Parts: sequence; C-alpha cells; structure tokens
Amino acid sequence: MTIYRGRFAPSPTGPLHFGSLLAAFGSWLLARHAGGEWWVRMEDLDPPREVAGAARTQLATLEAFGLHSDAIVEWQSRRSAFYQAALQRLLEQGEAFECHCSRSELAANGGIHRACVGNTRRADPAVRLRVAEGTVVTFEDQLQGRFSQDVAGEVGDFVLRRADGLWAYQLAVVVDDAAQGMTDIVRGADLLDSTPRQILLQQALGLPTPRYLHLPLIVDGNGRKLSKSDAALPIDADAPLPALDAAWRALGQDPASLRGSTDAASLLAASVASFMPSRLPRAASLSTAALHNTTDTNAV
Ligand code: GLU
Repeated sequence: MTIYRGRFAPSPTGPLHFGSLLAAFGSWLLARHAGGEWWVRMEDLDPPREVAGAARTQLATLEAFGLHSDAIVEWQSRRSAFYQAALQRLLEQGEAFECHCSRSELAANGGIHRACVGNTRRADPAVRLRVAEGTVVTFEDQLQGRFSQDVAGEVGDFVLRRADGLWAYQLAVVVDDAAQGMTDIVRGADLLDSTPRQILLQQALGLPTPRYLHLPLIVDGNGRKLSKSDAALPIDADAPLPALDAAWRALGQDPASLRGSTDAASLLAASVASFMPSRLPRAASLSTAALHNTTDTNAV
C-alpha cells in the first residue's frame, strides 16, 4: 500500500528556474524521506502561454538532475475527457453553471463573480463553480500552519472552463491529483491561496483531500516572484551540482551534509540520508538576496 505519493507538476511556460527546482527537489525529498513515490505531471493546459519545446526541456533538466519520475509522465493536454466528466457532474449537481458575463461586467465587480449580471448570452460561456455566500475554507498546511480563506468574499464563483474553451488549472489539478492517487501536494507558496478552491472542488466531486505543504516562494531582492522577474534565470542542466546545492540550502538543510558529492546521483543519495523536514523554512517567501548572502537560509 502506498502511504505517500507526491508529485511535481510544472507548466511548460519556459525552462525550469530556481523556484521550480526548489519545488521539484523539495517535493522529491519529502517523498523519498517518507519512503514514498514521486511522480512528474506536465500541466500543458494553456497553449497560448506555452513556450515551444519547454516541456521537453523541463523533463530533460529533471533527468539531468537525477529527479526521475516513478511513473510515466502524464500530460494534461491528453486528459480532457476526464475534466469534461468532472464538469458534467458538477453541472448536473447544480454546483457549476454557465456564465455569460463579459470581461467589463466582471471588472465592474472587482473581478469577483457572485451572480451573473449580463443580459446578453455569449456563444462561448465560461463555466464556473458556485461558491455559496459565507464559504470559508480552512486547512492545516504542513509547513505554513493553519490557512483560512473566505472563498466567497475573496474569490467568488471561480472558472472551471474558460470562455475560450480551455480548462482551468483548478479543475484539472483536482481531477488529476485524485486520479493519480496523490496523498501529498508539495509546491510553492504562490499556490497557497489556490488550495481552498481545490478543497471545495474535491468536496463537490466527492474526492479525498490530500495533505498540503507549501514551500517558500523564491522572490528577488524586490520581492517579485522569480519567474516574473529578470532573475528567472534558467538552471543549467549541464551543471546540476551548484543548483541542487543552492536549493538544498534554500530548503534550510545543513550544507555540510552534501560536501564531497561529485555528481547528481551521489548528491541526491546524501541529501535523502540527511534531509530534515523540521529544518524547512516556515516562511511564505525567501529572497534570493538572503540566499546569496549567507551560508545558511534566512527566511524573510
Ligand atoms: N502547474 C502549476 C505551476 O507550474 C503547479 C501546479 C501544482 O503544483 O499544483 O505553477
């Protein structure tokens, strides 16, 4: 019986950067530490945002780093039928509805949807999940502690299928995490505020809620998310050791334990042997400046 199964689920919007490596390595370490499995899933749901070749490059980089998936890599672009089935169920249950609101109508409401205001029917309605007034979701994050969100007030009815016909991340991730039997979701803290929506969807679909652990988001000296800033340098697939070593430190681990590792495989073996989850930084973000300036991790 598998008691721990985790995953790394990149979107192919560019090469892996240091922040994505942290999520990959961190989720891998936690899975291995628990004696569990670690799977890779490609979240290629959004062709307009996709960069040609990025998925293959990401997978090649993970391989070069010795981070091998325990299962064949699943591609979300091939799983529409499963998302459609989940959507159909939510529509039939009356929990999802077609939304004919225009962008400007939504903008007038601060982007938050509570009730359809439009009088005109669109040929291409989005489909949203109804979030009842007063819906607050609280969960215990394994690292960040208790997290609570007023989903009705802060998010509103959220999109499951977009007006352009593309599947929303929230629906696909919930369907796939359950279909793949994921017990533990480890990812960056930028997704902390997506988790309550995912828990609502799990409840609506009768799916189990996995454990969640959100690692600190890596930000640049100005506090901007790495992937959105100039510091989003791709990591070098030809030189895994420095990047893995930097990620190890960012995960709050003892730099001394990896000394003497000569290749990715020996570094990973040493890392599993000395990984201490209790040293993971309990911070929502970590600055690259702090990582450069110290030998140990500084939470910001
Ligand atoms: N594909 C998402 C991303 O790259 C991550 C999804 C997840 O880990 O839940 O931001």
